[in-house]
Amino acid sequence: MNAAALEKAAPKISFVSLGCPKALVDSERIITRLRAEGYELTKRHDGADVVIVNTCGFLDSAKAESLGAIGDAMAENGRVIVTGCMGAEPDSIREQYPDVLAITGPQQYESVLAAVHQASPPKHDPFLDLVPPQGIKLTPRHYAYLKISEGCNNRCTFCIIPKLRGDLVSRPVSDVLREAEKLVKAGVKELLVVSQDTSAYGIDLKYQENLWQDRQVRTRFFDLSRELGQLGAWVRLHYVYPYPHVDEVIELMAEGHVLPYLDIPFQHASPNVLRAMKRPAHAEKVAGRIARWREICPDLAIRSTFIVGFPGETEEDFQFLLDWMREAKLDRVGCFKYEPVRGAPANDLGNPVPPEIQEARWKRFMAAQQEISRRQLAKKVGKRLPVIIDEAGGPIARGRSRYEAPEIDGTVHVASRRPVRVGDIVSVKIERTDDYDLYGVAV
Ligand code: SF4
Repeated sequence: MNAAALEKAAPKISFVSLGCPKALVDSERIITRLRAEGYELTKRHDGADVVIVNTCGFLDSAKAESLGAIGDAMAENGRVIVTGCMGAEPDSIREQYPDVLAITGPQQYESVLAAVHQASPPKHDPFLDLVPPQGIKLTPRHYAYLKISEGCNNRCTFCIIPKLRGDLVSRPVSDVLREAEKLVKAGVKELLVVSQDTSAYGIDLKYQENLWQDRQVRTRFFDLSRELGQLGAWVRLHYVYPYPHVDEVIELMAEGHVLPYLDIPFQHASPNVLRAMKRPAHAEKVAGRIARWREICPDLAIRSTFIVGFPGETEEDFQFLLDWMREAKLDRVGCFKYEPVRGAPANDLGNPVPPEIQEARWKRFMAAQQEISRRQLAKKVGKRLPVIIDEAGGPIARGRSRYEAPEIDGTVHVASRRPVRVGDIVSVKIERTDDYDLYGVAV
């Protein structure tokens, strides 16, 4: 390569993004900034000037996966910058990989950029126009995650996120709405609202008002949901806790402004276990509230996650959970066996549930839930539902209705005589369902 060519070549970055949707949003922000400075992305570590690994440190298994990804990047390239949740524990990374170039914690965008600049300086003349107005998204163009806050004011005993990410810091509502509007203008059809505790949005800012378009809007969960609902895209709410003001948002769902979908990580139902977990907004009458929500918005779909085998969970607690599940009839459910996380207060609770009992309870839970999910899904047979297409090209397209979020819920398999494209919203008549998926024809 001659000197002129060398001068023109943009530094190449290989990027590995691990972890939850919130970490994905961080990755997108870092990549957008790097592209704005003229860096190029490459899919291969080999030949990249620098590899960035955005790690997840939530569970020990996620940490092992992160360390594995760092190891691969070291072996294939050797110039590695580590960021994300695991970056909050630099010693455990340095122990295994003393030669990584830099380690930064979650949301430390500036430190990641500084480390990249040092390892491989940007070109003097950045191609700012390389960046489309909506930024670079790692998710497909038709849906995007919208992160409304960082950190969390709760102190659930199994969780180290507040330790890693600090207390709740909400983005002012006008910032969030501006980003959402840009995304919709750029072709995004579905906005997925994420944070650690979506219903607490704005508490830290005392629900401050900001000017948005021609009016004052409060930095508050309800107001944000209402305004997002005006943008013309599907709006899906994740990580909502059942605080009392959630009831108002259910009305927005009933009126069609926000998708009738709530992702509420209940984690358990037994008051004893919830107390030991120090879960926010745990009311013993939650099943009653769910029933009321369904009166307001009859097609509300609820998805949740649960932990079984938490320290001190008795057979009675577990049975309480199963009975609660049968009453609450949640639509989609994930279940994990409790795993200790280094640094989490739950490690000191004692009274662990033996692994074979954890396993048996997990199986019983999954069997009970499968039955509930199957019945809930079967109610959709014969209905015509709008479906957003995620994958097209073959004889059967795949998508999701208002009741399924990407990556975590099931799929709608769509047979269509007309060609459909990714991002299209088509009307589908549901013909059959199984434990997780729906099958239908475009009409
Ligand atoms: S709500 Fe609980 S589990 Fe969720 S981030 Fe906050 S402390 Fe962790």
